[in-house]
Amino acid sequence: MSETSPKLRAELDGIPTYKPGKPAAADGPVAFKLSSNENPYPPLPGVMETAIAAARNFNRYPDMACSGLMNELSERFGVPATHLATGTGSVGVAQSLIQSTSGPGDEVMYAWRSFEAYPIITQISGATSVQVPLTAGEVHDLDAMAAAITERTRLIFVCNPNNPTGTVVRRAELERFLDRVPSDVLVVLDEAYREFIRDAEVPDGLEIYRDRPNVAVLRTFSKAYGLAGLRVGFAVAHEPVAAALRKTAVPFGVSQLAQDAAVASLRAEDELLGRVGSLVCERTRVYEGLVAQGWTVPETQANFVWLRLGEQTLDFAAACESAGVVVRPFAGEGVRVTIGEGEANDVFLHTAEAFRKTLTG
Ligand SMILES: *Cc1c(COP(=O)(O)O)cnc(C)c1O
Repeated sequence: MSETSPKLRAELDGIPTYKPGKPAAADGPVAFKLSSNENPYPPLPGVMETAIAAARNFNRYPDMACSGLMNELSERFGVPATHLATGTGSVGVAQSLIQSTSGPGDEVMYAWRSFEAYPIITQISGATSVQVPLTAGEVHDLDAMAAAITERTRLIFVCNPNNPTGTVVRRAELERFLDRVPSDVLVVLDEAYREFIRDAEVPDGLEIYRDRPNVAVLRTFSKAYGLAGLRVGFAVAHEPVAAALRKTAVPFGVSQLAQDAAVASLRAEDELLGRVGSLVCERTRVYEGLVAQGWTVPETQANFVWLRLGEQTLDFAAACESAGVVVRPFAGEGVRVTIGEGEANDVFLHTAEAFRKTLTG
């Protein structure tokens, strides 16, 4: 018998593994998970009942075309169903977008630091990542991104608001950027946190995509809608792109539970968006609290805040954890802290204040 292992694609070497947010300790004093940008509220009763009802049939395959959800989305967002594609979370759809556009020799561009799934799904495809540093203010540098476009560029992610910094790009600068992108390069507006935006100058990607066949919008049910565990997201894009996404999607990827719960969530949107409103109030309280303590915090339009802590990052994360809140550290860079329930945010603010004092002496 030969000792060699099956041949695996060389592109897979060195792919960073996705680091999920650390769970809250099961046995700690109080433990809040502020590490994955999840919605802290439990599922709405109606959504829960719908999911339980769907669970009764899980011996059956789901509706492969997601027709119920597609119709609901089409109506809710005023887009033709032919412009929609669903997937296993918007990460699943993002992977299909890359698979549909890019392979070895091609370039996928995005800001850095941004969503950590981008380098992973790009490398899996065999395409090359082009990472354009954020500005000193932690915002997308759209001029530098436009300047970095080459003949090999196939797809550009614009994460708005950006994960993990929470910063946004506004209408005029985005339009100016899009005018500079060649029409055969796909621009993906990743709007995972769209519902948390309160800045009227931040455009809704669904307005932008209408006149621009090379723009696709990614949305998810994982954040504001509170369905992170069910894995469902979608893209809105013009027909050739949306059709390619439907071709490359994993067959039966979105469970019936997820499809039905997503429909129920859209129908319970008023209540869900009320919860989002409370989280936005908490966001303001946390942001202002941190600024009052002397921290430099980029203005955030998402359900998290970003603290650039450099070498102090891991110490800060450890201090939070011993106080009972788990945050998301990016070693050597900073921490991302999700806005959670009021009590969790209080614990975080107290910890940040105490840590700040150790820094300033
Ligand atoms: C959370 C997140 C997503 C969505 O993830 P799902 O796969 O839908 O759970 C997509 N993009 C960004 C930037 C995110 O932060």
